[in-house]
Amino acid sequence: MHKHPSALGVATALKPAAPVTLIRPQAAARAARFFAEKFPGKSLYAVKANPSPALLRTLWDSGITHYDVASIAEVRLVADTLPHAKLCFMHPVKAEEAIAEAYHVYGVKTFSLDTMDELEKIARATNGATDLELCVRLRVSSDHAQLSLASKFGVDLADAKELLMATRQVADALGICFHVGSQAMSPHAYTQAIERVRAAIVDAAVTVDIIDVGGGFPSVYPGMEPPALELYFDAIHRAFESLPVSYSSELWCEPGRALSAEYSSLIVRVERRRGDELYINDGAYGALFDAAHIGWRFPVKLLREEPANDEEMTPFSFYGPTCDDMDHMAGPFLLPADVRTGDYIEIGMLGAYGCAMRTGFNGFTAETCAEVEDAPMASLYDESIAAPRRANVVQLIK
Ligand SMILES: *Cc1c(COP(=O)(O)O)cnc(C)c1O
Repeated sequence: MHKHPSALGVATALKPAAPVTLIRPQAAARAARFFAEKFPGKSLYAVKANPSPALLRTLWDSGITHYDVASIAEVRLVADTLPHAKLCFMHPVKAEEAIAEAYHVYGVKTFSLDTMDELEKIARATNGATDLELCVRLRVSSDHAQLSLASKFGVDLADAKELLMATRQVADALGICFHVGSQAMSPHAYTQAIERVRAAIVDAAVTVDIIDVGGGFPSVYPGMEPPALELYFDAIHRAFESLPVSYSSELWCEPGRALSAEYSSLIVRVERRRGDELYINDGAYGALFDAAHIGWRFPVKLLREEPANDEEMTPFSFYGPTCDDMDHMAGPFLLPADVRTGDYIEIGMLGAYGCAMRTGFNGFTAETCAEVEDAPMASLYDESIAAPRRANVVQLIK
C-alpha cells in the first residue's frame, strides 16, 4: 500500500471521487504496546471492533497474543491470519456447530456462557472435553458507559451460584467475565462490576481461575474526554487483588475500541451544501452508523491546501449518499464557515465500529485504502495530551 505523509496529502494526490479509508498502523501499534505493557494481566483484542487482517497483524507484532472472537467466521479469520494466536470464543450464545468447529478444528478451548443450556451445548459439542476454560458471563450495570450492554447477556447475580457450581464441574479452568458497556467514562464501572463478581464468588464458594473484566475501555471523541487509562488499570488491579480467587488466578481484559479507534479515519467529499447541511459521500450505511443512529460525534477536519477564508467554526450536520432520509448524521460537526461543494473532509477516530460496519447499500462503498504517517485526530496514548487529563481526574476521584 502506498504511504502518504498526511490526510491532506491523500486528498491532494488522489482527488478521490469515493470515500478513502485511511489507516495508521503506528497508532494501533502504540495502543497495543500500551495495553501489553501496562494492563496488569492479559489483553484480548475484541475482533468485532475492526477485523481488518492488516490491523490484526499490527496488534500481534506489538504484543497482543490473545483474541476475543464472537462468531465462527471470526475464529477462521484470526486463525488464518495469525496461526499462533490464542482464540477465546466469548459470545455467550453460540451455534453448536460453531463450538464444535472451533474446538475440534481450531483448538479453541476458551468459551463464555451465561445459561445452563449453553453449558450443556459446550459439553456436547466438545464431546465432554476436560481441557476447557469456561467463563461465566455475569450481568453488570452499564451506568458509566455511553453504549449499554446490560440487557442482552449475562446471568443475574441471583442465578449465578447454580451456574458457577455446574460450570466448575465441567471446566478445567473457571472464569467470570462481564462487560460494563462500551466507552465506559469512569474506572468506577469496573470496580462496581468487580464487587458484583466478589458477591458471586462468595455465594457460590467455587475456586475461580480467571477474572475477565471485558471491554469498554474508552477512546477520545468530541465531548467525551475520558480519564487516563492508567487510572482504569490501577482501579482494576486493586479490585482484582482483593478478590477471593486462587493464588494463581489470571486477570484478563477484552479491549476493542481502545485498541482500534485511532487506527482509521475517512476522507469524504462534499457533494452539495444546503445551509448548514452538508451532503457527503459516506454515511449511515458506510462507516458512520454510530454517528447516524446513536448521535456519536466524530472529530472532523477540512482538508484544503489554502487556508479557509473564514477561520470561524460553524456547526454542520451531514447527509450520507444513499436515498434514505435516515442516512443523516446530526453532529454537530464543527467546520470553517465557508465549506463548499468539492471540499474534502477527514472524519477521525473511525477505527472502532466505523469501517467495520460498512455495507454496500445503494451502491455506495469505499474501496480505496491509504496508509498515512500523520497523527490520528485524537489520542489516548499521546503523553502530552494524557498528562493534564490525568491530573484533572486524580482530583475528581479524590
Ligand atoms: C464488543 C465486546 C468487546 C469490546 O468492547 P469495547 O467496548 O469495544 O472495548 C469485548 N468483549 C465482548 C464480549 C464484546 O461483546
